Amino acid sequence: MGLFSRLVVTCLPIIPKPVVGFVAKRYVAGTTLESAVSSVRQLNEEGAMATIDVLGESVPNLDKARQYIDEYLRLFQTIKAEGLNANVSTKPTMLGLNLDEQFCIEQYDRLYQEAKQHDNWIRIDMEDHPYTDATLHIYRLMHERYGNAGVVLQAYLYRTLPDIDDLPEKVNVRLCKGIYIEPPTISWRDRQIIRENYVACLDKLLRRNHYVAIATHDDNLIQAAFALIDRYQLSPAQYEFQMLLGVKPELRKLLLNLGHRLRIYVPFGPDWYPYSTRRLRENPDIANYIVRAFFGLR
Ligand SMILES: Cc1cc2nc3c(=O)[nH]c(=O)nc-3n(C[C@H](O)[C@H](O)[C@H](O)COP(=O)(O)OP(=O)(O)OC[C@H]3O[C@@H](n4cnc5c(N)ncnc54)[C@H](O)[C@@H]3O)c2cc1C
Repeated sequence: MGLFSRLVVTCLPIIPKPVVGFVAKRYVAGTTLESAVSSVRQLNEEGAMATIDVLGESVPNLDKARQYIDEYLRLFQTIKAEGLNANVSTKPTMLGLNLDEQFCIEQYDRLYQEAKQHDNWIRIDMEDHPYTDATLHIYRLMHERYGNAGVVLQAYLYRTLPDIDDLPEKVNVRLCKGIYIEPPTISWRDRQIIRENYVACLDKLLRRNHYVAIATHDDNLIQAAFALIDRYQLSPAQYEFQMLLGVKPELRKLLLNLGHRLRIYVPFGPDWYPYSTRRLRENPDIANYIVRAFFGLR
């Protein structure tokens, strides 16, 4: 990231929310369920699947978590009623993991039961390291109880390669680099080492016959994934690529044209701010976008 972009990133907390919102809207479907439906319909028409995320994390109280649950229940009904090709992604701290683990497990029970009734499927996203063990624990419980569950592993953590040994057989794992700022005692920060660990984890997951959602926009990793898919002679039904809404649309087209399954992460909801600032932090062109937004340029 260049010096100017770094400066803008540092100043993000004092940049007016409307400016952040203007720049960030490419990463978020909108604030309403209707906006998510319209984004997903368009992606489905292009040949991509979706995973829909109600934006929110680290609830301040359990009532807020209950509100999010209601939104997810509405989401399952809508996906089915609208005939969308979409599953859902959830953040454990949005369901109260930051306050009460047992409460969070009960909420996941509710969601998984409802998802089953609507023939749907739930991914449990991975947040920062204080929640890694609890998230893996909740995932294992839901996998055993309901089956329609997926988890996420982060290649920047030292623990991830050995964590693969503890997964149940043939499960559905999203592999990503990891987005949170973690201490060097538990994670790599060097971009090339993270890439190498990503490839090592992907190789191990595929050799063990897990279904991997290869979540990255990094051309180096996409190339390495192509090589592994070829080496293990995988059919497109045995893995999928995943990308975030608004990031590298040209790569999206390429993957679909080459015949790979592709799922786009579609976040929506009024609580868009923390998600959007994380996206902006990782985008090297951020300074450019923000300056243009300031001056009302497209
Ligand atoms: C579907 C999906 C789900 C995810 N779920 C989780 C999760 O549960 N937990 C977690 O910690 N992380 C999650 N992530 C985020 C992930 O960990 C990375 O932070 C993120 O994907 C960027 O890493 P990258 O592999 O794309 O490589 P990068 O090197 O960051 O990006 C490669 C290239 O993609 C482009 N790019 C990347 N991000 C942006 C952006 N925001 N705007 C514009 N261009 C961009 C740039 O051209 C960049 O050079 C998820 C990512 C995806 C795609």
